[in-house]
Amino acid sequence: MKAGKNTDVRCACAEFLAASSRFYNVPDCGIRVLAARPLRVRENWTSELFGDYSPETMLIRVWMRTAVRKEITSFGTFLSTLCHEFCHHLDFQRFGFPDSWHTRGFYERAALLYHHARGTPQKRLFWLPASGGRWRIDWPRTNRGS
Ligand SMILES: [Zn+2]
Repeated sequence: MKAGKNTDVRCACAEFLAASSRFYNVPDCGIRVLAARPLRVRENWTSELFGDYSPETMLIRVWMRTAVRKEITSFGTFLSTLCHEFCHHLDFQRFGFPDSWHTRGFYERAALLYHHARGTPQKRLFWLPASGGRWRIDWPRTNRGS
C-alpha cells in the first residue's frame, strides 16, 4: 500500500476475499482497487466514498487514496472498508437478504471479521441512539471498552 501499487494491493485483497468466501461458503466476489476516493457532493456537505459493493455484479470497489490530498489511506481504514463491503456480499449470498442494510448486526459482523483478520482483540461496540430510530457507534466508549 505504501508503495502505492494498486495491482499488488488488488492481489492481496483478492486473496483475502477468496479465503473469506471459501470460509463462508459463498461465491467469489470481484475486487477493484482504485486511486483517489470520489467525493459525493450534497447541498450542505460532501463525503468521501471509501468503497462500494454491487449485488448484481458481485463486485467490490475500494479506494486507496483520500479524495482531496490524494494520500494513501491507513491500513486499518482500508481493511475495515474491505471487510464492510464483503459483509454486504454475505448479506446477499450467505443470508439471502433482499437488501443489505447498515444495521447494528451488520456492523457487529463487519467488526468481527476485521478483528479476526488483523488478529486484534474483539471490541464490544457501544451504541448511541440517533435521529429517526437509527443508531450510531459511540466511538469514545467503544475505544475505552466500557
Ligand atoms: Zn455499506
